[in-house]
Amino acid sequence: MAQSNRALVQLIVLEVKGRILKGVAGQYTVDTPKGQYVCNARGLFRKNKISPIVGDWVEINIENSESGQLMAVLPRSNALRRPKVANVDQVLIVLATARPAFSFTMLDRYLMQSEYEGIEAAICINKTDLDAAVAAKVCEIYEKISYKVFSVSVEEGEGLQPVQEYLQDKTTVLAGPSGVGKSSIINWLTGHENMATGIVSEKIGRGKHTTRHAEFIPISLSAYVIDTPGFSSLEPPDIPPLERAELFKEFSPYLGQCKFSDCLHNKEIDCAVKEQVGITIHPSRYERYVEWLSE
Ligand code: GDP
Ligand code: ZN
Repeated sequence: MAQSNRALVQLIVLEVKGRILKGVAGQYTVDTPKGQYVCNARGLFRKNKISPIVGDWVEINIENSESGQLMAVLPRSNALRRPKVANVDQVLIVLATARPAFSFTMLDRYLMQSEYEGIEAAICINKTDLDAAVAAKVCEIYEKISYKVFSVSVEEGEGLQPVQEYLQDKTTVLAGPSGVGKSSIINWLTGHENMATGIVSEKIGRGKHTTRHAEFIPISLSAYVIDTPGFSSLEPPDIPPLERAELFKEFSPYLGQCKFSDCLHNKEIDCAVKEQVGITIHPSRYERYVEWLSE
């Protein structure tokens, strides 16, 4: 009897739902309402063949105060290929007005990548203290084609409140090259949140070496950001030339209206897209589209 009771106790394990914050070498850190647990996936592989990735909602069996077993991966709403993360709501593209130099080509590459992944993107131009004109130019071009643009200066504490609101209740990939101020933004947000809630502020210790893996950073009880270099690849997505125009969202009302059904909107005559250049399509956006075609 005592024997079977002990067996029963072992069977009563605590199963909770959580989210994978990071995964390194088969060890997954899972954030749950009861705390964080490092889990392996042995239990999972017995059941199905899904490989868990960062951002997955999962069920775990808690084994002790620090570790557990991944038991199930819950259905994903989406999964990015690069970086490999699941259940992403939006992308915030962060660029600086200067240091490093601003580049429209870079901005468009990030936007194309987001459109390709089918995830809503917004633009955050940091370091407005260095060159406010760049931010104004970005607003002028991109707000017209319905991208949200945030102009901020972490240095001066300007413009960050709307960014915080944008991130609330969402899982956001922060994209952008290094040096533009992504960590500064995250630190501002966590510090701010903590000030508001009375928690002692703790800076995100984000060594450069840690950024090779996509990693979730909980910035409040209901917002996560993923700081990742994986998305910062400047290679445009590898897609056939005929489909490229679809990634420029202001072209979309005119696609299918050209004389030729296989129009690349480049040298063809009677092109509905080209007719809009200088009207609803900004000439510089069109130029960058043509540049991409020639690659
Ligand atoms: P990350 O590599 O994108 O995470 O960029 P960091 O947050 O590490 O910032 C890179 C550098 O830019 C640091 O020296 C920051 O102090 C500086 N920086 C961040 N925000 C601003 C800003 O608004 N204005 C200026 N002038 N410098 C900033
Ligand atoms: Zn055309």
